[in-house]
Amino acid sequence: MERLTLELFPDTARSEAGELTIGGVRASDLAREFGTPLVVYCEETIRARARAYREAAPEALVVYGTKAFPNVAVLRLLAAEGLGADVSTLGELRFAQRAGIQGERLVVHGNNKSDEELRAAAEADAAYVVLDSVEELERARAAGVERMLVRVTPGIDTDTHVAVRTGHATSKFGVSPDEARGLAGDVEGFHIHVGSQLLALASARETVAWINGFVAGLDAPPRVLDLGGGLGVPTRPGEQAPSIAEFVGTLRGELEVDAQLVLEPGRSLVGQAGVTLYGVGAIKRAGERMWVAVDGGISDNPRPQLYGAQYTALLASRLDETATAAFGVAGKHCESGDVLIERVELAEPRRGDVLAVPASGAYTLSMASNYNGVPRPAVVLVRDGAAHVIRRRETVEDLLALEV
Ligand code: PLP
Repeated sequence: MERLTLELFPDTARSEAGELTIGGVRASDLAREFGTPLVVYCEETIRARARAYREAAPEALVVYGTKAFPNVAVLRLLAAEGLGADVSTLGELRFAQRAGIQGERLVVHGNNKSDEELRAAAEADAAYVVLDSVEELERARAAGVERMLVRVTPGIDTDTHVAVRTGHATSKFGVSPDEARGLAGDVEGFHIHVGSQLLALASARETVAWINGFVAGLDAPPRVLDLGGGLGVPTRPGEQAPSIAEFVGTLRGELEVDAQLVLEPGRSLVGQAGVTLYGVGAIKRAGERMWVAVDGGISDNPRPQLYGAQYTALLASRLDETATAAFGVAGKHCESGDVLIERVELAEPRRGDVLAVPASGAYTLSMASNYNGVPRPAVVLVRDGAAHVIRRRETVEDLLALEV
């Protein structure tokens, strides 16, 4: 039987008399007070990951890949740890600005930026706007942008899901090495992000080796190199990822270019810090299969359907009980594919139990929808025995307010 320890959970997760606690707060109390589904973020874990990046690369500009979970309170926390923000839309820029992040710590992305987005980046005095096509140079200049990088696509096939692979030659992102070379005199430097949820160092090594070769062929070295994000987070027992120190150490150790370094971690800052709590509802047998249905699913976490992401779960108030059978965890949506977890061993679940899904803090709520008219969950931040709402639960009235 698969044994689930708390290692996939936030750093502060504990088992206390069979109860899961996070940041000193019982998960079952959080579910009772704030309702389910509920996304719980551990402040200490987020801060620890931010510090790990700062310690691994003290001289680098580290900007949070806001898309992983755009939230003003989290952006503020990260800013207090010395991080900035990588934003890829006007919306994400506004979140970062609301959190008080200054232009000097903003990096603006987007593979199809509008003129409005380019003007907003210029008005924010962003440290860098990252060009994603050759034609964007003139549009960015016309919008008043002064400092630019160009995203280059090295033609590296990373060992990750095809939907989060970005550095291959036919990628929709970036420009070819030849085009990037042509823009070298107009920009401060280059940006490379070859993929996300990387669980090994091989792609990082390959990327750095490629950059070393690319830069060696230029007339003048770049002033800035932005190496993107990409470090993965284990979501299943037995899965391993390099530590932040190992990942960044590999990048820095093998890079032969003396340039201002920019790093853009997303998932590795908030993925493990977030736990989603669901309420257990219907439990049924269908032929050979046992199902446990929860009060969320594809609307709060579409990653199983989009990326084949695999999660695990435990019953938050029954940690000491032995698993009795394997269950599929079904969402509440009208899709046969709305399955959150294909198979997880649990002690006989009961209606009203709280099911906790670890490592669900990145690219979950930020990709959430209102499918089936389901309002999106609330989010709380926990620390030292206290919980604060950092995003209120959506209501059906919120949804109806958009109807004309
Ligand atoms: N930077 C860029 C340009 C990205 O496209 C992404 C994610 O897709 C990130 C940073 C963050 O990546 P991750 O969450 O894998 O660290």
